[in-house]
Amino acid sequence: MTDRTADPRDPRPLTGEPLALDLLNTRWAGSPVHDLLDRPDGFGVWLSSAGLADRCQADDAGLVALRQAREALAAAVRDLDARGEVTAPAAAGLNEVLRHGRLRRELGPAGPAAHVEVDGPQWLAAWLAVDDFLDLLARGALRIKKCAHEACILHFFDTSQNGRRRWCSMAVCGNRAKAARHYEKARA
Ligand SMILES: [Zn+2]
Repeated sequence: MTDRTADPRDPRPLTGEPLALDLLNTRWAGSPVHDLLDRPDGFGVWLSSAGLADRCQADDAGLVALRQAREALAAAVRDLDARGEVTAPAAAGLNEVLRHGRLRRELGPAGPAAHVEVDGPQWLAAWLAVDDFLDLLARGALRIKKCAHEACILHFFDTSQNGRRRWCSMAVCGNRAKAARHYEKARA
């Protein structure tokens, strides 16, 4: 499919998650919060890391649509309840983006194919990201997780066999949590 090797200019601590979560991960902890999309070349860098640079233009209209998609995804993930169901208001936000595109199926010379059609080119990246979220819900909504570190706002899709991944990265947040526990114990 798409090439998902992160662009070397990409400054984010976590890349390579499925597209919907990769879009959420354009924001990461800091004070103030870091936001790749706030940087002048950020949208282009994100498209490149997401493997979409050849299909999408990093223009203002696309950025507006992408921010809308990111807000809708953030609300949906925030509201995912313990049963993995998206609340009605959050679903409405996702559908607001989804209504700007559709899949056209076709039996082509190379076999079955699906083409994404959008109302305007600015909607393509936003639509693909939200469409990807529907795929994740189908694959396992409870595997859509926020990093367990309280100061971390990154998200990932837990593909571990036992579904017990807790950290965006063991090296960063896993070890920070371990060190904090150790410190607490040493103080007690
Ligand atoms: Zn983390």
